Amino acid sequence: MAVYLCHEQPDLHQHEADVVDAAPGRVVLDRSAFHPGGGGQVSDNGWLDHSGGTVAVTGIEVIDGVVWHVLADPAIELAGAVVVRVDHARRSRVAQLHTDSHVLNALVYDRFPGTLVTGAQINDDGTGRMDFDLTEIDNELLRGLDAGVNDVISSGVEVRSVYVEAADATTVTGLVRSLSVAPPPTPDGRLRIIDVAGIDRQACGGTHLSNTGQSRPFRITKVESKGKRNRRIRFALDE
Ligand SMILES: [Zn+2]
Repeated sequence: MAVYLCHEQPDLHQHEADVVDAAPGRVVLDRSAFHPGGGGQVSDNGWLDHSGGTVAVTGIEVIDGVVWHVLADPAIELAGAVVVRVDHARRSRVAQLHTDSHVLNALVYDRFPGTLVTGAQINDDGTGRMDFDLTEIDNELLRGLDAGVNDVISSGVEVRSVYVEAADATTVTGLVRSLSVAPPPTPDGRLRIIDVAGIDRQACGGTHLSNTGQSRPFRITKVESKGKRNRRIRFALDE
């Protein structure tokens, strides 16, 4: 997991950058606040202002470690200086749901110790899902967990990101509990930990709020059994 500019400066939504590589419809920048997505989270979208106008960034593709910004105009070829603008509303929706999903994960883990996450997806439309390795659990019990998530939202709990040595992290129970979404360490062997104070500590490379109170209310919309050992919890931000 690389250390992204959006990790170091989560409130940076607009900045200048230089095009360092380009092909029709795509560019590599010397710096970019766009989150590339991953671990079940969609990438940031937004815009690049260039000498000839503005073009939308519709996605990010990481190829051999190089971050390509995919542009809405497949023929455009950019060079020189640009202004990067992150779609703040989209970033915010994803960060709200992503932070809420950490709280949900903690509540499930508390109630059913040792439960592993087998998959997660955070969409840009204010919906998402988490899959848990759970058997013999009443789906209605899971469905009621959104009340607990909303308690944490209304309590306004601080959310911090810290780095720990990856070698140390494996000795802390529950810190890396995902089967499929745990991020790899940084090149220098550290793990980024998202700490929802007193509630959840989890290795994660996504975008989050700095306080749970910044989230709109959270609603579990559906609980499905997906196979013998898999429960899928679907959720959404309330309007
Ligand atoms: Zn996360």
